[in-house]
Amino acid sequence: MPPILEVRRLRKQYADLMAVDDVSFSIPAGVCFGLLGPNGAGKTTTLEVIEGILKPTAGDILYKGQPRTAAFKNEIGIQFQHTALLAMLTVQETLQVFQSLYPAAEDLEHLVNRCQLGEFRHQRHENISGGQRQRFLLALALVNRPQLLFLDEPSTGLDPQARHNLWDVVNQIKADGKTIILTTHYMEEAQQLCDTVAIMDHGRIIAQGAPEALIRDHCEGVTVVLPRRRFTQAQGQPSLPYRIEGDTVRILPANIDDALRELMGLKIDLSEMTVQSPNLEHVFLNLTGRQLRE
Ligand code: ATP
Repeated sequence: MPPILEVRRLRKQYADLMAVDDVSFSIPAGVCFGLLGPNGAGKTTTLEVIEGILKPTAGDILYKGQPRTAAFKNEIGIQFQHTALLAMLTVQETLQVFQSLYPAAEDLEHLVNRCQLGEFRHQRHENISGGQRQRFLLALALVNRPQLLFLDEPSTGLDPQARHNLWDVVNQIKADGKTIILTTHYMEEAQQLCDTVAIMDHGRIIAQGAPEALIRDHCEGVTVVLPRRRFTQAQGQPSLPYRIEGDTVRILPANIDDALRELMGLKIDLSEMTVQSPNLEHVFLNLTGRQLRE
């Protein structure tokens, strides 16, 4: 079976700026694919070209192995960062308006349950909280039973509880078999939701793969961090690989259990020790030397 979406050598130019510069990736059906990168990296432009909102300067986009046709827009769902809705309507009334636009719309109760809208379905949509609004916009994106769902920074501005709530909903939508393309600034979100991620910078993809594989390939592994003054009190010579950075010592052990045994054997006080696991943020920093959130 061909991938549900294939992007080949995509380019989008604005005057002198190549906002999307030779981007290629392919997405098998049923996975969640994340596009990551700092502000201005080209994530939204890439999504909007795929969605058919913007025309590409060059490149091909294949949906189920074929160029997109007019039917493509009926088979995708888009959760925009900003959406204008009819004023004065409740959440449920808005969903019903959207349902009436499609001949085979999703069942209302399914949408309410899937996106956890029950508590506020009869409230006017202008009055719901940020987290509730994101789940509501997700329900609107699902109205036409899309196979492919686009989520552009779905949890930006949400508090931690609302964000976790949204992740639960997105994971259930994934379990329904939908394919999801997501942009985010939050590395934890990408690690929670995405099977594959592409990291973009200056319009180009600079790394691509499963989050764990990227971390394995681009990071050093677990780091044990100790205050330097504790480390220098060791009773003996440590054999562990380490480097001194100002007042701290960073130990990069091959095996964390062996490292801790050795440190205890050297009678080093470990009360101020921290153990850092590498994550996607470290991958990004290692590849670009830039902060992911600007
Ligand atoms: P963010 O995380 O802020 O949403 P992004 O990765 O989605 O950023 P894009 O919005 O795709 O980035 O923008 C990529 C680049 O293209 C930026 O430099 C932006 O200023 C530029 N750009 C976007 N739209 C236009 C436009 N209509 N005309 C000119 N330049 C544009």
